[in-house]
Amino acid sequence: MSAEKIAVVTGSNKGIGYAIVKGLCEKFNGSVYLTARDLKRGEEAVTKLKELGFKPLFHQLDISDQASVDKFKKHIQTVHEGIDVLVNNAAIAYKMDAPESFGEQAEKTVAVNYFGTLRVCEALFPLLRTNARVVNISSSAGHLHRIPSADIRAKFSNADLTEGWGNSAYVVSKVGVSALTVIQQRLFDKEVPNRNISVNSVHPGYVDTDMTSHKGPLTIEQGAKAPLYLSLEANLKGKYVWFDCHLVDWYGE
Ligand code: NDP
Repeated sequence: MSAEKIAVVTGSNKGIGYAIVKGLCEKFNGSVYLTARDLKRGEEAVTKLKELGFKPLFHQLDISDQASVDKFKKHIQTVHEGIDVLVNNAAIAYKMDAPESFGEQAEKTVAVNYFGTLRVCEALFPLLRTNARVVNISSSAGHLHRIPSADIRAKFSNADLTEGWGNSAYVVSKVGVSALTVIQQRLFDKEVPNRNISVNSVHPGYVDTDMTSHKGPLTIEQGAKAPLYLSLEANLKGKYVWFDCHLVDWYGE
């Protein structure tokens, strides 16, 4: 195995993902991949970080495109062999006044935020090294109590996700990401208990980004704080963490 440590952040050409890459460039003892679905936006972000004195690596990665994910996996496998930190940050959210039908919003949101994240995990988990850390960026919207139906909450892991969605596909996509975190940790603990791999999810806070139309009070650096804590320091497994780094009971009210 190559000795150099590798960190990967999805959707990191802007917003919180960009700040996570910046923070990792400062604190992570290894190389950091800024990835973006759009080559130009990704390269511009890399240039910005280089102007600040950082040296991120870059690769195209669209989490909703299997060919793109496969290509990235092959690149990492060939050049570095393994991954030490994986931050699943990429996501979309429709604005309240978006013209698309609820059906279309639901399909696209869940396809990117949940199934895109799952696709990346399925491709890259075989490359995770011993002591690797996976951070799934969830949301306050990813707390289980945001699912309105008690029945669906109770059987969420087997639920028919076309029922009980409430009015937000984003909520379902992020509750899915939080649930996935618990499942992934359980599987790592069962299948490779000696490899000390951790998977946690995090609500980064309400952050001033394009996603919130710049209404969030936190800076992107403040939003990156808890994801960086989980990527670099925390001794936690399968947990749901808040932006100030405190633990929240995902199952609780
Ligand atoms: P932004 O909209 O600012 O950034 C989202 C990033 O994800 C962009 O780089 C975007 O790329 C990328 N992205 C979207 N779809 C894909 C895809 N298919 N493949 C690869 N990259 C993709 O959002 P934030 O920085 O605000 O959000 C980052 C994370 O934090 C998300 O998971 C979000 O749900 C979560 N979050 C944010 C909160 C906030 O207050 N901002 C609150 C709670 C959670 P492109 O530029 O090409 O669109």
